[in-house]
Amino acid sequence: MGIRRVKIVCTIGPASDAPEALDALIDAGMNVARLNFSHGSHDEHSARFARVRAAAAKRGREVAILQDLCGPKIRCARFVGGTLDVPLNAEFALAESLDANVVAPANTVLIQYRGLGDDLRAGDVLLLDDGRVGLEVIEAGGGRVRARCTQAGVLRDKVGVHIPADRVRIESLTDKDKHDLSFGLSIGVDYVALSFVRSAAEVRLVRDICEAWGRPTPIVAKIETPQAIEHLESIILASDAVMVARGDLGVEFSPERVPVIQRKILGLARFHQRPAIVATEMMQSMMTAKRPTRAEASDVATAVFDGADAVMLSGETATGEHPALVVRTMHKIIVEAEQSAFYRVNSGKSASERARVSEAIARGACDIAASVGSKVLVAFTEGGQTARFASGARPPVPIIGLSPNIKTLRQLCLLWGIVPYYVEPLRASDEMVDRAHALLLANGIVTPGDSFVVIFGAPVGVSGTTNAIQVKVVE
Ligand code: PGA
Ligand code: MN
Repeated sequence: MGIRRVKIVCTIGPASDAPEALDALIDAGMNVARLNFSHGSHDEHSARFARVRAAAAKRGREVAILQDLCGPKIRCARFVGGTLDVPLNAEFALAESLDANVVAPANTVLIQYRGLGDDLRAGDVLLLDDGRVGLEVIEAGGGRVRARCTQAGVLRDKVGVHIPADRVRIESLTDKDKHDLSFGLSIGVDYVALSFVRSAAEVRLVRDICEAWGRPTPIVAKIETPQAIEHLESIILASDAVMVARGDLGVEFSPERVPVIQRKILGLARFHQRPAIVATEMMQSMMTAKRPTRAEASDVATAVFDGADAVMLSGETATGEHPALVVRTMHKIIVEAEQSAFYRVNSGKSASERARVSEAIARGACDIAASVGSKVLVAFTEGGQTARFASGARPPVPIIGLSPNIKTLRQLCLLWGIVPYYVEPLRASDEMVDRAHALLLANGIVTPGDSFVVIFGAPVGVSGTTNAIQVKVVE
């Protein structure tokens, strides 16, 4: 059966703003649309939000919308003429400017960080523009900072500045993030991603804010700092999903450490059955090229083999030349890997651990589907919990997630193996099995003679009632 298990997250930007471009992305297989709050105004984001919702509705497909908060990304301000040539060993003054629109005086780099002169020490190395340019502090004190270039390059206006992690005192949820978050919650985003997370407490803070707003929203912790690696397990447990944010990981650590860290994050996320997204530069060459490099194809397949729930596209779909082609290409790479003999994802936690009833039912149903050779597993789910447990157990068959709750259906879009469909609220178990039977047939998911496994609790529409498994042969 041609259902892809690993999901595709696409960043929406100028290249995917036209309604026909969005339609093409959805047709190509986009499951989650990411709004990147590092760029763009609230007006732009609310227009994108509305366009994604409209395009998904028009195509009768569910698409989740993920708000990615910018976090304490430190940038430099502007340069005369838009660039600054930084030759090896050249010396520059570093100074603070909270306004990134200011143009720096000659031989100066203005950095958007309050207390720069107090926090930096001689010997600290600043990495600019994703590590392309390096500046080592040679003198700091009395508000004056001088630095010497250790890695030459040309700086452009407003590129990111990486300050050694143990020096940074900025809260991971900035005032801009709080403002953006309340905006996101007000328009009704399906997920919130938190950048540069350092501790589980920061994730809990965001959860509290969402709850105080009356909009409980699942939280994706972006793992991209050394502190997050240090507190990885508690962060995973506090979050609803994690992202391997390889762009910043490659700056905070170094590129050769990223593949190992990726495996570590995916392994631990899998153990705790938390969804994981692998992000950044997965199909980078397709910003312009029409075919991926063999290394990119291999990278996407590796994420699939390592048990990721989703893979993400950034510039490829936001500003690249062939957004829909990239998604189609990524889809093919994923399906090829999933259908190969090497795809054996582990189901995480050992089944002997004590579980909730709905979790035990979901795990048991996965085993039954495998033993009797069912075509699909159908999970009736209100808040998504039952379907999440089924996804976490990584059954050998696709999971059809049925819910009367649209919010739930959208959230399920990010999760491995789940195809969400709306069903009206149903009261009796017979009705539910019949409804599933009709829906599977109508959508060509099964044919007479196939069997499917259903997990449910009656009535659907009430959370936490899942307590039954039924195997049904299609008539
Ligand atoms: P970003 O996050 O694109 O928001 O920086 C992803 C990453 O760092 O890889
Ligand atoms: Mn990042």
